[in-house]
Amino acid sequence: TTEEETPFVELQNVTFAYEDDSRKILHHLSFKVYPGEQVTLSGRTGAGKSTVFKLLLGLYQPGEGKVLIQGRDAFQIPEKEKRSLYGYVEQTFHRVPGTVKDQITLYDDSFTMEEVREAARIAGLDATIEQLEKGYDTLCTSEIFSQGQWQLLSIARAAVAKPKLLLLDEITANLDAQTEEEVLQALKRAAEGRTVISISHRVNAEIGRIIDI
Ligand code: ATP
Ligand code: MG
Repeated sequence: TTEEETPFVELQNVTFAYEDDSRKILHHLSFKVYPGEQVTLSGRTGAGKSTVFKLLLGLYQPGEGKVLIQGRDAFQIPEKEKRSLYGYVEQTFHRVPGTVKDQITLYDDSFTMEEVREAARIAGLDATIEQLEKGYDTLCTSEIFSQGQWQLLSIARAAVAKPKLLLLDEITANLDAQTEEEVLQALKRAAEGRTVISISHRVNAEIGRIIDI
């Protein structure tokens, strides 16, 4: 058969500026990522790597061209589908008011405790959480975890929804070597069987095929 598999993610000739009259950030950018592929977006600082993620997340529409996820316009994907479609992990963790469990579920109580524990296990954070006085019901303050542990918690938050696609933006930046290794191990578990696009400008953190933008 000559029929081509549908890419999981595809940018077709995308041109984008944050405001109509401002400088173009992306110029006729095209690439495809197939289901199950793990790729790294690479490019100098300011090249527009994080901007590509914002387009995939449906936060902006391109001026020209198409941003497609499973053949659908990323901007048209309903909010309620997004969590099971993709997990987005960035450099900083955005803590929500509430417990450790709330950080993982984002208050979605359709997740069972078993799913929450499994997500924490994937992140390598289950033992740490169980040592807290109230475990998953411990109220989260900024002090209860270290920087690396917050980063692991953001992996648990993404993993709980078992998303088909992981978008990882410089998630090991600013971590010491040992913590970076822990985060990379957690990622390896979280990425299993998924399509993964990661952003890095550090060569040792690049995985899979490199897409230069
Ligand atoms: P880095 O490697 O430093 O993270 P990047 O490749 O991720 O860089 P982007 O964050 O996508 O780059 O930024 C690309 C350009 O778009 C930069 O010049 C940046 O200043 C600009 N930019 C980013 N966000 C906005 C915004 N919300 N409004 C206007 N301009 C923006
Ligand atoms: Mg960036």
